[in-house]
Amino acid sequence: MTSGGGAAQIEAELHESYEIVGGAATAGLLLLCDHASNALPDEYGTLGLPASELERHIAYDIGAADMTRHLAKALGVPAVLTRFSRLLIDPNRGEDDPTLIMRLSDGAIIPGNRHLDAAEREKRIARFYRPYHDAIRRTIFRCAAGGRMPALLGMHSFTDVWKGTPRPWHAGVLWEHDERLAMPLLAALRAEADLVVGENEPYPGQYEGDTLWQHGTMPGRAFAAIEVRQDLIRDADGQQAWGERLARILSRILGRPGMVERFAMRSGRQCAGPVT
Ligand SMILES: [Zn+2]
Repeated sequence: MTSGGGAAQIEAELHESYEIVGGAATAGLLLLCDHASNALPDEYGTLGLPASELERHIAYDIGAADMTRHLAKALGVPAVLTRFSRLLIDPNRGEDDPTLIMRLSDGAIIPGNRHLDAAEREKRIARFYRPYHDAIRRTIFRCAAGGRMPALLGMHSFTDVWKGTPRPWHAGVLWEHDERLAMPLLAALRAEADLVVGENEPYPGQYEGDTLWQHGTMPGRAFAAIEVRQDLIRDADGQQAWGERLARILSRILGRPGMVERFAMRSGRQCAGPVT
């Protein structure tokens, strides 16, 4: 990272657990892609699944990684992406969440997770889960040290059909507690004439312990998540088109007078007593 002159830069970094895409520390935005990869370390094989299962949404968010890269590049902002499958361990859960390591996902039993003992669970947390979250924390602190607290944007994708029912939304914005990024993003997406946009669809705004709860809600940072339907970003053209569409929308939002300054910390929820 360079210092001074307002040119602080987050450097690219590659780790077994995560990848950091470099970008301007002071851009006011950090992208987080929890379900970027369907990769499994060699010693885990396919977790006992047919290889075809690893190509499905149960292993990762189809299209999300390259959409994130296009968006990061177009805006010049940093991004943190995972390099392991959510089937190994889901980074978008609290460490004590019973679905942290899934034994069953959308009808598929995951043999490699069926008889998981405490030691194996701790091993996956230490090797994959924590380094990813530590990388997010470190990147946020570097951005803040550059003079600007970034808003966090979670980048996800969802299946076009769920349990036999087609989903109508092209994209959804998930949010809770903090409107600073979520409301302008939702309004801007809704202003796109060709889109059906969900608010806290197809998922609720937040689960206790998830990535944006850990790094957004609890410390009091601005955040939102975007979910894009997988049939729209399944191929390279779609990933690029959506990355560029979101870049156009977000550059306008970030460029509004006073907008990025509003992302300065607000009091978090740690002192508000236990979250129920
Ligand atoms: Zn996801």
